[in-house]
Amino acid sequence: PWHPVKDSNGAETEANGRRKAREALGRLWAYSRPDKVPLSGAFIFLTLAVICEMFIPYYTGKVIDILGSKYREAEFYVVVSLMALYSMASSLSAGCRGGLFLLSLARLTRRLRVLLFNTVVRQEIGFFESTKTGEITSRLAADTALMSRSIAINVNVFLRSLVKVVGIYCFMLNLSWQLTVLTLIDPPVTALIQEIYNRYYEGVVKDVQDSIARSSHLAGETVHAIRTVRSFATEQEEVEQYNARLLETHWLKIRRDVIRALYLLVRRVTQVAIQIIMLYYGQHLIRTGQMSSGNLVSFIMYQTESGDYIRTLVYMYGDMLHSMGAAEKVFLYLDRKPEVPTEGVLKPQSLKGHVQFKNVSFSYPSHLDVPVLKSVSFELRPGKVTALVGPSGGGKTTCISLLERFYEPQKGEILLDGRPLRDYDHKYFHTKISLVGQEPVLFARSVTENISFGLQDCSAEDVLRAAQEAYADPFIQQMEKKYMTDVGEAGGTLAGGQKQRIAIARALVRRPQLLILDEASSSLDIESEHKIQETLCKMQGLTVLVVAHRLKTVENADKIIVIEDGRVVEEGDHRQLMDKEGMYHRLVQRLFTQNGDLE
Ligand code: ADP
Ligand code: MG
Repeated sequence: PWHPVKDSNGAETEANGRRKAREALGRLWAYSRPDKVPLSGAFIFLTLAVICEMFIPYYTGKVIDILGSKYREAEFYVVVSLMALYSMASSLSAGCRGGLFLLSLARLTRRLRVLLFNTVVRQEIGFFESTKTGEITSRLAADTALMSRSIAINVNVFLRSLVKVVGIYCFMLNLSWQLTVLTLIDPPVTALIQEIYNRYYEGVVKDVQDSIARSSHLAGETVHAIRTVRSFATEQEEVEQYNARLLETHWLKIRRDVIRALYLLVRRVTQVAIQIIMLYYGQHLIRTGQMSSGNLVSFIMYQTESGDYIRTLVYMYGDMLHSMGAAEKVFLYLDRKPEVPTEGVLKPQSLKGHVQFKNVSFSYPSHLDVPVLKSVSFELRPGKVTALVGPSGGGKTTCISLLERFYEPQKGEILLDGRPLRDYDHKYFHTKISLVGQEPVLFARSVTENISFGLQDCSAEDVLRAAQEAYADPFIQQMEKKYMTDVGEAGGTLAGGQKQRIAIARALVRRPQLLILDEASSSLDIESEHKIQETLCKMQGLTVLVVAHRLKTVENADKIIVIEDGRVVEEGDHRQLMDKEGMYHRLVQRLFTQNGDLE
């Protein structure tokens, strides 16, 4: 992770960080281009506001001179009216500036989020295995906000301070060049103090953030795994751990605040010291008639302000670098190219559903050294039912994941109707191939929305028919709001078998050419499974790949493929394999009987 300021090993890293920050700023600027009208407007108002504001100290000094010398009433009223006018103009412009900047900020944030989400959902499945969900959502929520804030707010304040400092120095030179030269000692001192402060503060702020993230991660994890926590009765330990993390955050925050307090103290002391020197010298200038007392008052007002703005400039620079860290993380995601590209274009009118695995070898990206499939070859013939069986962990689900293109095999290839899977159009491919996974995932939406998921032109009749085919209609009809019932987060309000039936309906509604059922009937009762099988038998021309435990499901398959330890060990129909008295025979004897699923 890139962090320029905290890194202590020299100027090299820091220079690198600054270069990257400049690059990031450039990109952000490019992303803000659609907002160039409000941004230019904001800049114009910013300059206006600053210029108007700058006259105030000048006129304040004037008022003092007028009051001090012989009474010049008319002039007094003119000056005071001018002051009022400038103040008003300045406040108005400042308001417009702020509004326009905030508008651009909101628009930029939304644009970035959509862009980012669009890239994220297209990443390969392996990416989601190696990336925490929390990390992705915090990129979307926190980092994008931080990053647009940096362009809209920091750039805003940065520009304002820059314009202001330049203007102030013009006024100061005009009032007294000697005093101006004297004040030139201030900026380097201020900048130095600020720089030292930034270094420490940045680091500790980061630690605080990390620590907060750790505690919320812990809390999230506990809530997520509440069933496990409950069944191990570890509630108390979880609470204690959470408390420990919060305490850690607490102490880090105290450290942060002490650093800040020390900084404020040093800053204040230097400020006062410089002002005393200036008063002393200014008094000398007034005595020798080189300056009026009003001018000295104006000058001191400018000088105080200039100090504030210089500090802001330096601070902003550090803060911008910091926000660029967030930007950098967002860019990493934005630039990420999915390792399984989805750019095929093939969309044939008709598909037979003929699948061939040819010497497919595969390891999961997270464990590249563990071969999971070892030169697997088999074929799903069009319109036939093929069953994958074998001991748990043998690689059945992995075969299905490859067929779904969740991963790309390292060796060998998978063909659909003679063409590599990657040649097919992504949307087309997944309409033709329907998967009912091992653990069906439903969305916190209505039953209808879950079944018609991802289909635009799906009528209520289509949904009803699919639900009937999946034998889900009977229990849906019994629910209070029927098809409009919300299934709750991840389908939490439904039983396992009900979820599976909805998932099967979701697969069937798109009239696939190839249906994949990965232990889809594992939580189904015998009756539902039987009904569903009847439907599947009626579907002419549908190619089915089924992974099942129950003998009954497997027995009727046209072909059975036995996979063990990443290899195809046997192939044939039930009779042939039983006669062979090999692995399948043993499985039937042992596994199926053990599960009590043998009829
Ligand atoms: P089956 O479905 O036949 O029970 P799987 O295909 O799920 O078996 O698993 C095959 C092997 O791959 C197992 O050893 C399992 O631990 C491993 N595996 C499964 N999924 C992943 C994953 N996402 N990342 C890494 N290894 C995995
Ligand atoms: Mg499995």
